[in-house]
Amino acid sequence: MRRLSAFSYRCGCCGLCCRDKVITLAPYDVMRIAAAAGLSTTATIARYTLRRGSLLRFGADGACVALRDGLCSVHVGRPLPCRLYPLGLERTGDAERLIALEPAPGSKAVYGTDGTVGDFLEQQGTQPYLVAAQHYSRLLPMIRERLRLLVDFEKTEPSEFRRVAVREALAESGYDYNPLIDAMFDSDRWSGFATQGVRLEIRHVTALHEMIEAHLDALQLAAAGVLLSVSLGYGPAEVLAGL
Ligand code: SF4
Ligand code: SF4
Repeated sequence: MRRLSAFSYRCGCCGLCCRDKVITLAPYDVMRIAAAAGLSTTATIARYTLRRGSLLRFGADGACVALRDGLCSVHVGRPLPCRLYPLGLERTGDAERLIALEPAPGSKAVYGTDGTVGDFLEQQGTQPYLVAAQHYSRLLPMIRERLRLLVDFEKTEPSEFRRVAVREALAESGYDYNPLIDAMFDSDRWSGFATQGVRLEIRHVTALHEMIEAHLDALQLAAAGVLLSVSLGYGPAEVLAGL
């Protein structure tokens, strides 16, 4: 779908999109949920997420843990996938593609054509999220370059290196300590919030850049890159392509 494609969507407040979903979170989503919930990013990750901050948590009843009495309790800070719904975003390289997702069965939504996709994105307040995603995306080629410097792929089998990095990044439990992944999602220490009470994603991106440049553990770096790729809507192999 293009931004000028005819599209409108009126929510029927059935709450079905807040159940039984897999919703990937980017570092900026975690910051925004934290601000809406009045919590630190550390507490937000513990309460609202899985997989080290990169997945929204759903309870045993299938409902998102932020859903209260049928309403989103973090509405002003709801993550990008919730704002985009019933659209989704896929990224490859420099390209991004909006796709129409399957409506939730029984949804009370009303689809129409009395607007455009661009209007819908604006109404949903997606702009700061899309700008933040561009900022974080710039870290991916930096990680790739750093891996080229750190790993001798004449001696290390690239496919095995990629396999281990993807497994480590996407494990929901039993994963190894990774300071880069911690810093990506638990951002208060790096975004300025801990010292000045303001979360600035650009400051966070700059701090991550410095950490990436100084990091010496290639597998940790690759796993962090894979998780960042996925959290921004790329495929897991995006950061490792060409290695
Ligand atoms: S499934 Fe659609 S209609 Fe129902 S609450 Fe979600 S956005 Fe609204
Ligand atoms: S964060 Fe809010 S909008 Fe998104 S799934 Fe949870 S309750 Fe629904």
